[in-house]
Amino acid sequence: MAGNADAPRIGVLALQGDVREHERVLHGLGADVIRVRRPEELATVSGLVIPGGESTVIDKLSRQFGLQQPMRDAIAGGMPVLGTCAGLIMLADCVRDGINGQQSFGGLDVVVRRNAFGRQLESFEAELDVAVLGAPPVRATFIRGPVVESVGTSATVLASLPDGRVVAVGQGHLVGLSFHPELTGEYRFHERLLRVAAVHHSVTR
Ligand code: GLN
Repeated sequence: MAGNADAPRIGVLALQGDVREHERVLHGLGADVIRVRRPEELATVSGLVIPGGESTVIDKLSRQFGLQQPMRDAIAGGMPVLGTCAGLIMLADCVRDGINGQQSFGGLDVVVRRNAFGRQLESFEAELDVAVLGAPPVRATFIRGPVVESVGTSATVLASLPDGRVVAVGQGHLVGLSFHPELTGEYRFHERLLRVAAVHHSVTR
């Protein structure tokens, strides 16, 4: 897709977090990638990754940079978004254990709880069956990740841990993951984002 002027451009929200790792995955898939920090940059993309990092910081900076409302408008307008870890928190309609005044962009009809795995389990790996991706299972890295505590009627569970805790959800053009696929060579979520973004691109341009 690189070099094709008509290819959908994918943004990585670059306020804070593991921006570079997502860029690497997207470049590996041949995508046209830009970092998004300003509304003008957001306006040029057909799909977006919100990386992991610290949701409190991403929230604050997005408001300082005047990106909160443009993000909400873009999400409401059908822009495909993949949110990982803090990115899932930013996509959740309701956030528990946030700091005072913490806000999200919203879009996913879910309740998430931050830092929900407890001290010993702050960071761990797990294999997850994700039906929409098929075989092989996803090798998922969790780093102080959120858990999806409840899933509203508009959202769908994409993956759960063996104990039943929900760690991946989807809703139309939105996908939110409690873990970091970009750290384990797992490209399939990004690949799906590119496919959905290509459809969005052809409809909106
Ligand atoms: N604990 C972080 C938060 O609340 C998320 C951690 C991560 O993105 N790896 O935003």
